[in-house]
Amino acid sequence: MQSKRVPIGQPSGLGAQAGHGRRSVSLFNLANESARLGQRLEERLTAVLEHGRFILGPEVEELEGALARFAGVRHVIGVSSGREALVIALMTLGVGPGDAVFLPAFTFAATASAITAVGATPVFVDVDPAICNMSPDRLQQALENTIATTQLRSKVVMPVDLYGLPADYAAINAIAGIHGLTTIADAAQSFGAMVGELPVGALAPVTATSFYPTKPLGAFGDGGAILTDDDALAAAARQIRNHGRDGSGEESARLGLTARLDTLQAAVLLAKLEIFENDLAARRRIAEHYGRAFENLVQTPPCPEGVAPAWASYTLRVDERDAVQQRLVQAGIETGVYYRVPLHRHPAFAPWAGSKKAYPVSDQLANSVLSLPIHPGLTNEDVDYVIEELLQVLS
Ligand SMILES: *Cc1c(COP(=O)(O)O)cnc(C)c1O
Repeated sequence: MQSKRVPIGQPSGLGAQAGHGRRSVSLFNLANESARLGQRLEERLTAVLEHGRFILGPEVEELEGALARFAGVRHVIGVSSGREALVIALMTLGVGPGDAVFLPAFTFAATASAITAVGATPVFVDVDPAICNMSPDRLQQALENTIATTQLRSKVVMPVDLYGLPADYAAINAIAGIHGLTTIADAAQSFGAMVGELPVGALAPVTATSFYPTKPLGAFGDGGAILTDDDALAAAARQIRNHGRDGSGEESARLGLTARLDTLQAAVLLAKLEIFENDLAARRRIAEHYGRAFENLVQTPPCPEGVAPAWASYTLRVDERDAVQQRLVQAGIETGVYYRVPLHRHPAFAPWAGSKKAYPVSDQLANSVLSLPIHPGLTNEDVDYVIEELLQVLS
């Protein structure tokens, strides 16, 4: 059955009739990855098993070069996860106790835990309801408030490209410039997105991304990368990921971590990178189908003019979200909620949350967001089925 279905990554049969009878459509489709990658994956893995350089082997450097060309940056440093990419980026800038780092209240916990890991203070900023990303106006307010009421040094702003849509870097970088902050982009969900001619990686002086399996460019385990044009910062990040060692030197040049991207994951990612443009095109095609079907019925995801998101997820805002989700479950359609709890309501971040009422947009989103399946393994029939079922639920 599975092998007869035409994945949407191959455009034949667009507009095909929806299948009859019950389907099951999963939110992700990771069990099918080796079939999608085929020979190129086997060859890559075999090469690693044969040379045996499992740590910082040649595939890591090859991947870093390929990703740098893809994203149009001078340096890519492969690391062990998206969260460690953020931690290392903060460490290269010397961020630590007494420093404020501004981040959206509506994101994954790792954005905040990277900041607390270096001893810095996370300052939550509410998001803009139009784009679900950090509000530049709220950032300006949070900065002024931090300067007026605390002793903290405002060092870094860490916008997040939620759902694969780049944050408003033009506005945020301008505010950062005026106040002497560095922008670190949390692009864990947006690798592959474009703003006009600029790819993610070129939108901020430092960008961190993740290769967690469900991210647009996902490995078969944990992984991440730092992207930058800054030679000194790149050199520092290379040392930090490997115990602070300078190349193969015996000395720790600086304090470091064990946070390398491992060679097998780099090999998987090299195979994935060959089909990544196709995967992105498939995600964009599905997003267009969904957009046309739902745009007059519910709030569809924002996609500003000239921006091509990476579509890590396709996230609607719906009333009575939990009931809608339940009805889709009954139809065999798996959905996700990113995120049910905004960061200012996590017990772990209570010390930095301030008033729980200070982030009303984040609270609204947490109650209404619902993510539909959008992975490249979906068939046209799957997409049509999701549309049909959801239209029924909404009517
Ligand atoms: C996934 C994710 C991370 C963390 O990436 P890991 O590779 O899981 O450590 C950080 N920030 C955001 C917004 C994410 O979605």
